[in-house]
Amino acid sequence: MRIEPFSLSLSTPLDTAAGTIDERRGFLVRLDSDGTPGLGEATPLPGWTESLDDCEATIRRVDDPESTLDDDSLAAAPAARHGVSLAVLDARARAAGEPLYRHLGATASTEEVPVNATVGDGEPKATAEAAADAVAEGFPAVKLKVGARSLSADIERLEAVRRRCPDVELRADANGAWDHETAERALSAFADHDVAFVEQPLSAGDLSGHADLRGGPVGIALDEGLHEHGIDAVLAAAAADVIIIKPMALGGVDQAADVGRRAIDAGLDVVVTTTIDGAVARAAAVHLAAALPRVRACGLATRSLLAEDIRENVAPIRSGAAVVPQGKGNIPPS
Ligand SMILES: [Mg+2]
Repeated sequence: MRIEPFSLSLSTPLDTAAGTIDERRGFLVRLDSDGTPGLGEATPLPGWTESLDDCEATIRRVDDPESTLDDDSLAAAPAARHGVSLAVLDARARAAGEPLYRHLGATASTEEVPVNATVGDGEPKATAEAAADAVAEGFPAVKLKVGARSLSADIERLEAVRRRCPDVELRADANGAWDHETAERALSAFADHDVAFVEQPLSAGDLSGHADLRGGPVGIALDEGLHEHGIDAVLAAAAADVIIIKPMALGGVDQAADVGRRAIDAGLDVVVTTTIDGAVARAAAVHLAAALPRVRACGLATRSLLAEDIRENVAPIRSGAAVVPQGKGNIPPS
């Protein structure tokens, strides 16, 4: 197994709970399985996975990549496991002569996966313009970042978007910014503008609070909460209508597929997204979305957040959908 470090500049620095980041660093993982090449990507993100140093050290310790899919030896390092498992699965799918999404269990061919656009935290006019541009490009769903401003300011932004875009599916992501009372007021106001669901209205720790918020016309989605508690606890608490799946944080597309199928079997909706990964992991996330029996429009239009990429024209976005690669494996290995 060989590992190749990479660094990708972001188009715009990004504020995260763990600080501002301006690049994504990670490792390509290459292996040869009886003459068949496999390529994976490990791109750790503070707050969601192990550190870059831990990721590298973990990958370098692996001497039998195949066995790591079936034991839990890499459980403490989800990005490392994502990279190694993707390299193994890529080689297996390539050897079987099928695209990765078929190898992950899809029973039919899928040409594309619908994706959402994300519009930032601008003033009402700028937010509505950005949403209208996305609708014109064919995006079926638009996600607004909320919670950084007052609730009344966010409601104005939402009203402006709904006025410009009467038919698009609207979602909001509060990233845990609200207390319970603000969340209740937000859900009631957002219902007037036909918002489909709000992601993480309360802090990640508060599963029972999210369970309490369910039942109205606006769905409750968990992202940070799924990461903190895991799918078993989320299902047991009946805390979500929708879960947001990040394969890099879940330790690989195989484990993410298990989480997605369990959620769907329990009647939840699923959105697959990335942690602003490079082209190899992003393509794998598109395969994952194509492998699941049903997904909502997914957060897979994240190439534009990078100023550069490992590979170009991989699973490109066309008219609001990610094109699912149809060659053998994930993407061509070189
Ligand atoms: Mg989110």
